[in-house]
Amino acid sequence: PLVLGIETSCDETGIGIVRGHTLLADAVATSVEEHVRFGGVVPEVASRAHLEAMVPTIERACETAGIKLADVDAISVTSGPGLAGALLVGVAAAKSLAWSLGKPIYGVNHLAAHVAVDQLQHGALPEPALAMLVSGGHSSLLKVTDITLGVDPMGATIDDAAGEAFDKVARLLGLGFPGGPVIDRTAQSGNSVAIQFPRGLTAKRDLERHRYDFSFSGLKTAVARWVEAKQRAGEHVDVADVAASFQEAVCDVLVRKALDAAVTEGIEHIVIGGGVASNTRLRAMATERAAAKGITVRVPRPGLCTDNGAMVAALGAEMVARGRTPSLLDLPADSSQPVTQVLA
Ligand code: ATP
Ligand code: MG
Ligand code: FE
Repeated sequence: PLVLGIETSCDETGIGIVRGHTLLADAVATSVEEHVRFGGVVPEVASRAHLEAMVPTIERACETAGIKLADVDAISVTSGPGLAGALLVGVAAAKSLAWSLGKPIYGVNHLAAHVAVDQLQHGALPEPALAMLVSGGHSSLLKVTDITLGVDPMGATIDDAAGEAFDKVARLLGLGFPGGPVIDRTAQSGNSVAIQFPRGLTAKRDLERHRYDFSFSGLKTAVARWVEAKQRAGEHVDVADVAASFQEAVCDVLVRKALDAAVTEGIEHIVIGGGVASNTRLRAMATERAAAKGITVRVPRPGLCTDNGAMVAALGAEMVARGRTPSLLDLPADSSQPVTQVLA
């Protein structure tokens, strides 16, 4: 099926066009520059930017894909979770298109789409798979047996998301926003074993209750304390070493717990998705440690990890391919749509 997907859950206006597992176009307009001076995404500014970018981005995607809107078999759109006002712009645009074209609409879960996108690069999703979803707002381990029907949460962060930790640590190191890419870059020239930062929820007593859960807020505090202590002592802070050691701590816990879950459940494939999946250390560490256990790791190229329209189109195409009933034309935007609800 030929599907056009619309993503507006945060600050990226993404329009993707796919035919089955083939990506035809992935046009993204971002308002990130407008948020930099606030050190985070400003919802009102993001919504307005989506409204301005919507039509030109749709036109650009259709041009790249070499299709006309009338050719599409279905429209899919992120219905949640995300910023309410931002989601509304995408959902309203999707409804207008679906209604005027007389085509079905699928309101899909942004988080499931972060997982489904991998099929555009590596072909049909292996199912069952263990999905490690690591993004700006979420960090979860999910068991996926049919991505169009739902996911089964095994564990999640009990405080900050992994991406949030990257953003907060980058800010306290004075590296700017968004933090993930800059820490990734800075860490390249640092020593990842220079500082032993804590691995949250890995102590024996924590594992009893939180075997597959994560905690990153203690790590963020540990980094802040370490930097403060150095500064108070008048010592030089090697930012690259701090970045590398922090990144190592995050990746170590993510990979350890994902492998534990996969091995325990007898799942042979791990799929990594979400913005943090573009982290070079996470990709290398996961692939290497999984191989030692006979588990394959699939992670799409970085451009497909951060928010984009292709991921939404990919999940929509899967809905069509597997004969799922479309959403109603009056589907809502649900800012807190649970990860277990794939279709709105
Ligand atoms: P969610 O998907 O939970 O709604 P979101 O859509 O805002 O949140 P994504 O776009 O999936 O999040 O990911 C953005 C996050 O990914 C940011 O926190 C950013 O710092 C992080 N990120 C991006 N690139 C990297 C990288 N190379 N290393 C680590 N983190 C990264
Ligand atoms: Mg973004
Ligand atoms: Fe996202």
